[in-house]
Amino acid sequence: MARRKKVYEGKAKVLYEGPEPGTLVQYFKDDATAFNAEKRDVIDGKGVLNNRLSEFFMNGLTAIGVPNHFIKRINMREQLIRAVEIIPLEVVVRNIAAGSICPRLGLEEGTPMPRPIVEFYFKNDDLGDPIVSEEHIIAFQWASQQDMDDMVSLALRVNDFMSGLMLGVGIKLVDFKIEIGRVWDGDFMRLIVADEISPDSCRLWDIETGRKLDKDVFRRDLGDLADAYTEVARRLGVMPQGPSGVSKPTLIN
Ligand code: UDP
Repeated sequence: MARRKKVYEGKAKVLYEGPEPGTLVQYFKDDATAFNAEKRDVIDGKGVLNNRLSEFFMNGLTAIGVPNHFIKRINMREQLIRAVEIIPLEVVVRNIAAGSICPRLGLEEGTPMPRPIVEFYFKNDDLGDPIVSEEHIIAFQWASQQDMDDMVSLALRVNDFMSGLMLGVGIKLVDFKIEIGRVWDGDFMRLIVADEISPDSCRLWDIETGRKLDKDVFRRDLGDLADAYTEVARRLGVMPQGPSGVSKPTLIN
């Protein structure tokens, strides 16, 4: 088979040309980065877990009518997705204060938000992804007023879906980030959820113990990241055999 053409390589994923026009193959790497790639490591099995978890979340979103880029999983590390024109914004929804909002607004980690807060960050590594307002987004034409309304609505629907799913397995969805892209059906443009939804881009806390089950484990050196992601996957019934694809030996009495 001819080598596929690489279209884009990011910190945690690679995009290749897909088999049909308008499709891409998304490959999940084991690389973990934090603090704008100042901290980096390779975590065995992370790519496999995020491929499966993103598949699981996107399929759930499809089932409740939230449009997204996922078409099908190809193998342990790759999925077929719809090509989109990514809007250069990170859309963050917060239910509980954690991360960057704490020093910005003087909030203590763990403070519940009065209601889910939707924030936008300009995707630009050189600038460290600065937070931006609707004014900036419209003035610089990163998105239109209609796009803004659609992005907020998509983000809140993803929040309701993910919060409910996590609550069902004893996990609090503290916050998360999504990326949104444009697709055209003929002349009609619409926005769909793209990129990935995984513990790399969410904050997830165990309801009972407060244990962090997300990328903060890596950011703050709190233990084994793959163990945390495996725990999320196990509770959701995603790949119960673990990321190696091989079940652990069972003792037969
Ligand atoms: N996030 C992300 N990618 C980024 C920045 C943030 O996936 O480049 C996620 C992060 O994991 C968290 C949420 O967005 O779930 C809010 O992140 P925050 O603004 O608190 O920034 P951080 O503390 O991650 O720097």
